[in-house]
Amino acid sequence: MSIVPSALIPSATPATWLGVMGGGQLGRMFVHAAQAMGYKVAVLEPAADAPAAHAADRHLVAHYDDVDALHELARQCVAVTTEFENVPAASLALLAQHARVAPSAANVSVAQDRMVEKRFFIDCAARSGVLPAPHQLIAADSDIDLVPAALLPGILKTVRLGYDGKGQVRVTTIAELRTAFAGMNGVPCVLEKMLPLAYEVSVLAVRGHDGKSVVYPIAENVHRDGILFTTTVPGPNVSAECAVRAHDAALAIIDQLGYVGVLCIEFFILDDGSLVVNEMAPRPHNSGHYTIDACMTSQFAQQVRAMTGLALGEVRQHSPAVMLNILGDLWFDLATGERVEPAWDRVLALPGATLHLYGKDDPRPSRKMGHVTFVATTLAQAQASLQAACALLRIAL
Ligand code: ADP
Ligand code: MG
Repeated sequence: MSIVPSALIPSATPATWLGVMGGGQLGRMFVHAAQAMGYKVAVLEPAADAPAAHAADRHLVAHYDDVDALHELARQCVAVTTEFENVPAASLALLAQHARVAPSAANVSVAQDRMVEKRFFIDCAARSGVLPAPHQLIAADSDIDLVPAALLPGILKTVRLGYDGKGQVRVTTIAELRTAFAGMNGVPCVLEKMLPLAYEVSVLAVRGHDGKSVVYPIAENVHRDGILFTTTVPGPNVSAECAVRAHDAALAIIDQLGYVGVLCIEFFILDDGSLVVNEMAPRPHNSGHYTIDACMTSQFAQQVRAMTGLALGEVRQHSPAVMLNILGDLWFDLATGERVEPAWDRVLALPGATLHLYGKDDPRPSRKMGHVTFVATTLAQAQASLQAACALLRIAL
């Protein structure tokens, strides 16, 4: 029987330090949440100029596998978490010899490899009631000879390191598949059948050291060019039955993993109403940003609570919400390509608007620069603010 460790309560003198692997915007919002609760935070991130590093109390400028830096992080911090899934599992395992690490190296490594992840989902299907899309590993040209016609049209995805639709090619024929695989520089890929999506949802689940879990309201997501565009909660298309199925599937998955921390699971809802599990992220997620402004406890505050062994917070949503991602494209005039500043003054004048910018000073097309959340008493009011913001920012809806 495992002994539940006592919580790592924040202390001002001496300061209780938490660590985070990775310095992106998810790390930055984690830093904000941890500091608000009285912790000091150290970030391990190789880039000198990184969103989380600007906010952190300490920045260890080092690669994720730098043994000296990992020892220093573990020496200073009572608990360490990660803000992105591609931290080497070996680094998390090393940290775990000296500090509390959540999520674990084993859990993170499942989400690092699409094939391992799909195998896990299949193993879990009897409990979760959901399966991944039909798929096949394409590790060599000869694997293409075995591809059944039923997997086409499909999407070829790199097994590792894909995000925001990167490392993905849509193919309709075997010839296109061969060309696409040849363009992947020999890395292992998975071909997934292209499914008829009615809509997409994600479920944010959090599990504590004591094995207790909480699940946030189901979020409905719209992607554009493989990148999250908006998240709406409650989702206009989400039926009560779908919400229950996704909620129960998420609970089964997080429990079977024996996970500690914040986990986001993406699902597809097909035209026939069936639910398919897509992928999971072992960390807070872009589709969970609405929790900052619309829920009792944000996903980042929950990450702090889970990793330290504090009680998990209430997940209750107090206001309907729409989250709009802000990409670097907005800093360029559509016609001339010249640099412009988005009209944040006008966006912030809209009812229920909260702006979150990540402190990145070099906007580039498709780069996530921030998000705006609109909350209101009714979803229709939040959606009206979203529409007005899109008009001001020249974003086509
Ligand atoms: P990423 O790691 O880039 O988020 P995903 O596997 O989630 O990769 O794919 C990104 C988006 O592409 C999904 O949210 C969905 O809109 C679309 N997509 C991915 N796989 C499929 C599929 N099998 N069928 C239909 N659409 C898909
Ligand atoms: Mg995804």
